[in-house]
Amino acid sequence: MIEIDLDELVENLMQCRRCGICRNAVYEDRGFDGVCPVWRNSSGFETSFMRGRIQVALALLDGTLEKTPENAESLFTCTLCGNCTEICAAEFDPTECLEKVRAVLNDIPNDVHDTIAEKIMKYDNPYEEDNKIKRNWVKEVGFDVPTTGEVLYYTGCTAGMRLPNIAKSTAKILKAAGIDFAVLEEEPCCGSVMLRTGRVEDAQKNAEKFVEVIKNSGAKKILVTCAGCLKTLRNDYPKLGLELPEILHITEALQEIVQGKKLKLKPLGKGVKVTYHDPCHLSRAAGVYDDPREIIRSIPGVELVEMETNRNTAMCCGAGGGLRSYDAELSKRMAADRVKSAMEIDAEIIATACPFCENNLEAGAKQIESKIRVVDVVDLLAESLK
Ligand code: SF4
Ligand code: SF4
Repeated sequence: MIEIDLDELVENLMQCRRCGICRNAVYEDRGFDGVCPVWRNSSGFETSFMRGRIQVALALLDGTLEKTPENAESLFTCTLCGNCTEICAAEFDPTECLEKVRAVLNDIPNDVHDTIAEKIMKYDNPYEEDNKIKRNWVKEVGFDVPTTGEVLYYTGCTAGMRLPNIAKSTAKILKAAGIDFAVLEEEPCCGSVMLRTGRVEDAQKNAEKFVEVIKNSGAKKILVTCAGCLKTLRNDYPKLGLELPEILHITEALQEIVQGKKLKLKPLGKGVKVTYHDPCHLSRAAGVYDDPREIIRSIPGVELVEMETNRNTAMCCGAGGGLRSYDAELSKRMAADRVKSAMEIDAEIIATACPFCENNLEAGAKQIESKIRVVDVVDLLAESLK
């Protein structure tokens, strides 16, 4: 169970030096530039970046500010992307603190996030769908996929229910590489969004159920598609006192396959410019920067080009931390901003490694009527299979 020491949390929040670097910083290579993607894509008030959020959090915690949904708004207009943590020189992790503040203040009503938690607890997914459809994509891969096995491919709610192409591509690649894998008959939700939005009691109950299902499956290794699932299962479950087998993001697993030249690949064109968008929960949270890039570089006919912000300073797409459901318009503006960065370097394709990012980047591209193609890295690799 997550135990939050309130005194320690306040002490940490007080470490903020109010320097404002988390709004915009002076970089050696690109001068004065934005750090917080929310600040860049909103009105620019103090509460739209971490320095202001911290002051609001302290005031809500000590009672100076009344605990109302309106006063707590700035706690929720943050994707927990971690870009501010990356640059903050003070002795604390502001992003982690803000997530804890959400948990401590979860008695402040938040209809949007309460509803998502209710749906996950009731349907085992946040989309209010019959959970069985998560495995529908398996019928279209053209070969049998068992429901138990040592290597488990955990599709996750968004790939399983919204972007099944990612799951199909993953299955095709694993099959081509000769790796036996299973997909559960019915997957529970990892509960990522509940942890990010402070619904910790429900998240704990859900996680215990998840671990039980995995135990019964006999899996020794779990491959995940979604960066949010990775962070939750690998980083958060141990904090909940729960153990799982080894968890790998699919790009970590495929990188070995690509290095070992286990796949026969054909060119996707000639010099097709592909840029890579780092999902925050895969990059800053898990330190996975190179594996997806290596996979892209391995595809014949493709040139990997980098956006101005990339790797640990990459701007967030706006989908995470519960923002997509809390303020969809702000979230999509952030995605559009990221798409513009890709267009500035003449990329034809944005490849990413998280269905949640893909979904939002597509929405951002649509908003600015960009023709850029948004795909998952596994989709590009699967298209290149001979
Ligand atoms: S959170 Fe860090 S970077 Fe932001 S104002 Fe405080 S000390 Fe400065
Ligand atoms: S975590 Fe990301 S969105 Fe939130 S305040 Fe920091 S930079 Fe802004």
